[in-house]
Amino acid sequence: MSRVRRDPHAERARAGRGPSGRVRMGVVAAGPARPRTDPHALRAGVLAPSGRLRVDPHGGDLVQHAGVLVEQGPEQPILVADPACLILAVLDLPDGRLERIDRGLLSAARDLADQLDGAVVALTLRGRHDLSRLGADRHIALDLPDSWDPDAELSAIAAALDTLSPRHVLFAETPLLGADRARRLAIRTGLGSAFAVHRLQPSEIRARGAGTDLVGLPPPIMTLHEVLLADMPEPSLREARPVELTIGPAPAAIEDLGEMPVDLTGAPLTEADMIASAGDGVTDWSAFHELAQILNATVGGSRIVCDRGLLPRDRQVGASGTLVAPKAYLAMGISGAAQHLQGIERCQRVVAVNTDLHAKMIERADLAIVADAQAVMPALASLLRERDRG
Ligand SMILES: Cc1cc2nc3c(=O)[nH]c(=O)nc-3n(C[C@H](O)[C@H](O)[C@H](O)COP(=O)(O)OP(=O)(O)OC[C@H]3O[C@@H](n4cnc5c(N)ncnc54)[C@H](O)[C@@H]3O)c2cc1C
Repeated sequence: MSRVRRDPHAERARAGRGPSGRVRMGVVAAGPARPRTDPHALRAGVLAPSGRLRVDPHGGDLVQHAGVLVEQGPEQPILVADPACLILAVLDLPDGRLERIDRGLLSAARDLADQLDGAVVALTLRGRHDLSRLGADRHIALDLPDSWDPDAELSAIAAALDTLSPRHVLFAETPLLGADRARRLAIRTGLGSAFAVHRLQPSEIRARGAGTDLVGLPPPIMTLHEVLLADMPEPSLREARPVELTIGPAPAAIEDLGEMPVDLTGAPLTEADMIASAGDGVTDWSAFHELAQILNATVGGSRIVCDRGLLPRDRQVGASGTLVAPKAYLAMGISGAAQHLQGIERCQRVVAVNTDLHAKMIERADLAIVADAQAVMPALASLLRERDRG
């Protein structure tokens, strides 16, 4: 019987090997062929042939869908047609401007509403604001006069409560705005309230009490502490559907006589627009206080100077003091320790005066003066006096 002759070429080909015996790429195509991707077709909708992203004139976004980049139309707002409850957020809007604290308040309201299958109703007392990107499902946009009239504001907020019966009304714990409005509302309505809430859950809140944390169920009226408002995520696009509100006439108990000059040096640090802050590099305290007075800046300091009793404890800026967010922060002889820098993260502009070029505060500053604070303070004060004279 003759032996079956082996054909080594055919065997190698079946095994996917070349004449050399090495595995050949691409010849072991057993089974269904993989669909080939056409890079030009892929790019057509979303990428220019160069491979660079095209600008979509319709404002569409590029999203990855099943591993392929596709073009998506403009983002659609999330609608909440039939909410289980309403969360009313009364924005501060200092000077009619939408501030970081207002964004934080809306995000916190959004977070709570999402956990309760509810909707967020934003109430703005003045100005025109687009709140669709800030988490508002509904928007009551009032146009109260600019004058200071807490009674008119309160009547408007109370009217919103009567009309909507929200489950919770949220304010920011800002002394001159949210905190004041919330306390007035609590007294007028007799509803339960909690202030300076720093942990907010549908079934439990924690609020800052006198030296201790108060824990309980969330009451109808709450103010939220700034620590809660600082860490909120950015919400997605919402409807911000306008809601009309009828407000009755408010009793005119207060007459607004306009603004008066006030001494801001001892104002609460959280409210300050400008802070003059002293560290261990300050030895001429009368020059420091005089400069703060001329600038009408609120006085702050590092922990070291508060520990030494050179400034009261409520002036301490930093992680274990007050987190501040002024437009301008003037740091005199402050090194910029991590705990201090945490306290000034949200300052818009920082000016540092320090003899050490390598101080962390100099690194953090938008404007740095490498010099003796004792020389800079009186020089700056005399320049400002000259400017004021004319
Ligand atoms: C748990 C914990 C919490 C803390 N919390 C806080 C807090 O909330 N806030 C806080 O501030 N600190 C806090 N600290 C302390 C912090 O670590 C620093 O010790 C403190 O901030 C330093 O203060 P300072 O910058 O004034 O002093 P220093 O670190 O001594 O710095 C003095 C600065 O002045 C400069 N200087 C010296 N002479 C002059 C001059 N003639 N002119 C100009 N500049 C001059 C020096 O170059 C130096 O940069 C905390 C520490 C801990 C452990």
